[in-house]
Amino acid sequence: MRTVEIIEKKRDREVLSRDEIDYFVQGFTRGEIPDYQVSAWAMAVVLNSMTVREVTDLTLAMAYSGDTIDLSHAIPIAVDKHSTGGVGDKTTLVVEPIVAACGLPVAKMSGRGLGFTGGTLDKVESIPGFRVNMTTTEFIQQLKDIGLVLSGQTADLAPADGLLYALRDVTGTIPSIPLIASSIMSKKIAAGAQAIVLDVKVGNGAFLKSLDGAVLLAETMVGIAEMTGRKAVALISDMNQPLGLTVGNSLEVKEALLTMRGLGPLDFTEHCLEVASQMLVLGGQTTNKEQGRSMAVKALQSGKALEKFVSLIEAQGGDSSYIYDTERFPRASLITDVRSYNSGYLKEIHAQIIGEVAVDLGAGRTKKEEAIDHSVGIELHCKVGDFTEIGQVLFTIHANQPALVEPARVKLLSALTWSDTPVECLPLFYTTVTTKGTLLENDFLPLF
Ligand code: URA
Repeated sequence: MRTVEIIEKKRDREVLSRDEIDYFVQGFTRGEIPDYQVSAWAMAVVLNSMTVREVTDLTLAMAYSGDTIDLSHAIPIAVDKHSTGGVGDKTTLVVEPIVAACGLPVAKMSGRGLGFTGGTLDKVESIPGFRVNMTTTEFIQQLKDIGLVLSGQTADLAPADGLLYALRDVTGTIPSIPLIASSIMSKKIAAGAQAIVLDVKVGNGAFLKSLDGAVLLAETMVGIAEMTGRKAVALISDMNQPLGLTVGNSLEVKEALLTMRGLGPLDFTEHCLEVASQMLVLGGQTTNKEQGRSMAVKALQSGKALEKFVSLIEAQGGDSSYIYDTERFPRASLITDVRSYNSGYLKEIHAQIIGEVAVDLGAGRTKKEEAIDHSVGIELHCKVGDFTEIGQVLFTIHANQPALVEPARVKLLSALTWSDTPVECLPLFYTTVTTKGTLLENDFLPLF
């Protein structure tokens, strides 16, 4: 097989065979296909897309390009969740303990924040001592012991995706539904997931800005799951404003703890209950979502979800005294309110801008290796649809560098637009994609 012919085929909008896809993925994983050929091929995929069969073959080739984890001996069914990333999204921290407290074991590999979106690992590392680097043996043992584990990606999982993603990042080839879907699903399959709840964010603080694009990505991922014998459901959720009322690592952990105590913001609590109930249904703990929801509510109200979270933190070396006494989390040295210069109904709180301010303050990183400051971030005191008066506090900035406060204040205010007439609250979810809505095997996936 000649690599250049595979690139030419994609350039000419032809359909690649499974053997050609395997050859290409194995070749670049072994370093035998140079970056310039991989980049040319990725651009051809961006421009000409793939069929559902091709994208499934690409997913499997990447999933099996390195180590894989088999959880089938450890637990009856491995149910996972994946969020495509957003601002203020601390859902994993609450949902995983809820689900585990309902008797469904959860083994989760999470990521770090990059760009304006946060990452679960960075958030949970606000708790001193918490260890996210685990070996596969430790990962499986903890799952058996306490039914809950949260780590970074162990070992050499889906290395082809890591290599391809790094190239896509610098060659303008990120925005492609086949490439995004195969990237996400290959990691889930390699990590042993048998059932997956996909939380596909849409809006100004998400990867996908249009509902059509988000639905298509969801359909593609659910289609891959179906064609590879996994169960999946995708929720299309709103990211046109931050989720909950905090953005920034320890602020978000504190909000997650409040939520586990039943005192969290309504939007975030409802979001968690929906994701948790979908996981409970997929994992066979119940046959319907309503029952799943009441199981999840009970896990919160009884304190069992919080207990599970404590056992997770302790099992991975974290200091659980922070959970009982959240005053122990380090506070930023400069805490400044941002007041409204306008009155009216809030029409927009641009989530990406809020996420960028958090990164500017040091809560996130612009390069992979950068250190982050767990104490900084933003508290929100309003949501879209609220009426705000002049002088009312809209945000609180938590900063450690005086020079960053004023630029943060100006940028936060630029994230807002008002209306003189009442504005409806944003929905939490737009739609749900299940296997019934899957594309036909040979359909080309439309472009963005
Ligand atoms: N997240 C991933 O894991 N991969 C992508 O390509 C995009 C988002």
